[in-house]
Amino acid sequence: MIVILLGPPGVGKGTQGVILCERTGLRHLSTGDLLRRARREGTPLGKEAQGYMDRGELVPDSVIIGMVREALATASGPGVVFDGFPRTVAQAEALDQVLGELGRDVGRVMVLRADDEVLVKRLAGRRSCTECGAVFNVHFNPPAQENVCDRCASQLTHRADDNPETVRNRLEVYRELTEPLIAFYEDAGAPVRYIEGDQPVDDVQQALAAALDDDS
Ligand code: AMP
Repeated sequence: MIVILLGPPGVGKGTQGVILCERTGLRHLSTGDLLRRARREGTPLGKEAQGYMDRGELVPDSVIIGMVREALATASGPGVVFDGFPRTVAQAEALDQVLGELGRDVGRVMVLRADDEVLVKRLAGRRSCTECGAVFNVHFNPPAQENVCDRCASQLTHRADDNPETVRNRLEVYRELTEPLIAFYEDAGAPVRYIEGDQPVDDVQQALAAALDDDS
C-alpha cells in the first residue's frame, strides 16, 4: 500500500505518519526528515537544500525526485507512507512514473485539513526528535519529560523553520504549489480521503485507520 499524507505544515502529517507506520508496518518516508538528516551529516545534498529550507521554499524537484527514487529502491516491506512528498505536480508525476516502473500505484491520498491559525499555533509549540522523527507539541501533545523524546530518549528541538515569518512563507508555498495536488489526484481518479486535522491525535489516527480500511 502506498499512502500519501497531504496537507499544510503543522497539520500533523509527521505525528500521524509515525503512528500509522508503527501500527501498520508501513515505512514512513518523510522528505523533510531525509533533508534534515542530510544537512546534519553535511552531505552535498544537505548543503544544496539548506538555503531553500531556511527560507521556507521548496527544494528543487530534481533533487527531491532523485532522493525519493533512491529511498524507494531500498524500501522493503508492505508499503510506504509519504509525508511531505509529493509537494508539486512535477513531483506527483515523477512518483506516478516510479510507481509504474515498480508495478505499484497510489493506494490512498489522505488530505489533512486545518485552519491557518491552528497551524501557526501548532508550529510555534512543535518540538521534533532529530533522531527518530517523532513530533510533540508543548501545548497539545507534550512529551512525558520536557524536551526528551518519548520514543528514543533523544533531545527534542524546535525547528529553525518553525519561526513565524518562515511559517507564513511555507503556508503560502503550500497553497500555491501543493494544494493543487488534491485536484490532480481527484482528476486522476485516485482514492482521496479528507480528514479533519484539528482534533486530538488519537481521533485523527482513528480517522486515518478508517480511511485506510474504506476502499469504496
Ligand atoms: P517538512 O519537514 O515536510 O515540513 O519539510 C521541511 C522543508 O524541507 C520544506 O519547507 C522544504 O524546504 C523542504 N522539503 C521537504 N519536502 C520537500 C519536497 N517534497 N519538495 C520540496 N521541498 C521539500
